[in-house]
Amino acid sequence: MEVPCVRVPREDGEEARRELADADLIADGYEITVEDGWLYIPVVDPEAVPEGFDVVEREAPDRETQTAPADLLGFDPSYERLGDIVILDEDDPERAARIARAVVESDLPVETVLNKASKVKGETRVREWDLLEGEGTETVHREYGFEYALDLAAVYFSPRLATERHRVTEQVGEHEHVFDMFAGVGPFAIPAAARGARVVGVDVNERAVEYLRENARRNGVADRVTAIHGDVRDVVAGTSDERWSSDGVRDVAPEYEGWAGRIVMNLPHSADTFLDTAVSLAGEECVLHYYDIAHDEDPFGPGERAIREVATTDGYDVDVETRRVVRSYAPHELNVCLDVRLSRSA
Ligand code: SAM
Repeated sequence: MEVPCVRVPREDGEEARRELADADLIADGYEITVEDGWLYIPVVDPEAVPEGFDVVEREAPDRETQTAPADLLGFDPSYERLGDIVILDEDDPERAARIARAVVESDLPVETVLNKASKVKGETRVREWDLLEGEGTETVHREYGFEYALDLAAVYFSPRLATERHRVTEQVGEHEHVFDMFAGVGPFAIPAAARGARVVGVDVNERAVEYLRENARRNGVADRVTAIHGDVRDVVAGTSDERWSSDGVRDVAPEYEGWAGRIVMNLPHSADTFLDTAVSLAGEECVLHYYDIAHDEDPFGPGERAIREVATTDGYDVDVETRRVVRSYAPHELNVCLDVRLSRSA
């Protein structure tokens, strides 16, 4: 049967699929097909497809029916997937247990179901979990062709930021020097290294740094990623005593001052307090990806003012290249990103 399909080059398929899924536009009853380097994604409403996408009528095979959790429950539960783990955010323990059972009894390839038991908290931004089904909290998650091993009970990771991370890492050029100040298990660092950059990733959470090293090896970029455990302020100031390269060899403390052509600051609640460190890392020309949580009345102002104050004092011209809302964080609070170019004043 002919159905409207969005047609995209195969290499852009994952990004397009996500964007259409976020807008609830994918027609789940039909298979996505590939032909001659093009991906055809069936959509429910061609009129609602965002501008810039090409929509064509095309024969699409019916999707083989599989039992979904909703078929067993009689309602459509909301959940996130992370590797072979399903994540719930349910307040009612009985409802959570019912959904968890349906998830493992469905045809989803899932072993473990976790329910959020706290907000992300503390310096390491790790959350508490209730284990509802399965045995552990470790998994391997795939995102834009990369694999990330991680233990949700020990490190921070959010699959919701995939599109944003892809947007940033697509900007990375070969031979760039990228400094990821709050690297976690590597979802910015590893794709950046895969584009040919030299990457330094720092994290105060030792388990995250262990996973960052493992993930660098897993994705074939260990030779370009240096993973350092420590508070990034100490690491950059040269006062940290933990400096290890990705192959497990202790580094001779390199000097990172003025080293970076690109800096990722993904610690949204307190990135402003690390701006001195970021600016000391910046080379003559440097792009800063600065994440913030801000009120929706002035989502970019506070970050922009903070960056201007520190960078201009240090002799940089500041050019805000992108102001972007990443997602809504809480009522009237937005998670935003500023892409800012710092250029040493003449
Ligand atoms: N960029 C990663 C990602 O997208 O998954 C992790 C982001 S998470 C919001 C922030 C990370 O910063 C956590 O892994 C936490 O352990 C780390 N962190 C917090 N304070 C730090 C500090 N002073 N120095 C280095 N890392 C820090």
